[in-house]
Amino acid sequence: MKTRQSKPRKKSATATTSPAPKVPRAARIGATVAAPLVAGVATAPSPVDEATLAEIFSRLRAANPEPRAELDYLNPFTLLVAVVLSAQATDKSVNLATAPLFAIADTPAAMLELGEERVRGFIRTIGLFNTKAKNVIALSRILVEEHGGEVPASRPHLEILPGVGTKTASVVMNVAFGVPTIAVDTHIFRVSNRIPLVVAPTTDKVQAGLEAIVPEQFRLNAHHWLILFGRYVCKARRPECPTCLIADLCRYPHKTVAA
Ligand code: SF4
Repeated sequence: MKTRQSKPRKKSATATTSPAPKVPRAARIGATVAAPLVAGVATAPSPVDEATLAEIFSRLRAANPEPRAELDYLNPFTLLVAVVLSAQATDKSVNLATAPLFAIADTPAAMLELGEERVRGFIRTIGLFNTKAKNVIALSRILVEEHGGEVPASRPHLEILPGVGTKTASVVMNVAFGVPTIAVDTHIFRVSNRIPLVVAPTTDKVQAGLEAIVPEQFRLNAHHWLILFGRYVCKARRPECPTCLIADLCRYPHKTVAA
């Protein structure tokens, strides 16, 4: 998804006297590996050092001091539903579908009353709409019956909701409740492995690596900065390297050149 913030809107020796080398925290947690993660590169370059990492986020922050999600939502519940619907769908398509849906159902109780069939009607332009309609109703029922109609600010409680996985729970914890998690989607996975920030073979390992090394002052908004950067600058097919604000810091060996 593209990530608006907490406030609702319509808003990683020897046995000698030598000191042991300092091992990056990401490496200690097993996130840094030499793997052919970058297309056409046999061995990925080493991740940037701490100073470079801080400089990268400083520049991203300067360029966009208050990053916002691009999914429209009204409150934690509609954020949760929007993120569930955004799986394998664009934020734009989700926003088009949820505008009329949230206008009449912006709480778990209202969504439950609306019913699966009508929810399906609102979201049929989105991929996997049948499964997503079932999940929206099922999670709404759980929120009503087990959480007093509120979205729990708890990762374990979120992750057991139908259609909600690690990424969705991380986004909700970050955007709705201001918890400095760094949900990793396809864009952040690509950006992290290209620069590289953290080199790892799965989104979960990249997330763990990023959450271990991104300085605290940047952690809350890191998800937003990286996802927007990946979506509009460090794009999958042809990254905008000639105009990239961190091109001098990036170690990607196949930067594009100006036409
Ligand atoms: S220089 Fe190119 S590959 Fe490196 S971060 Fe920027 S856009 Fe991505």
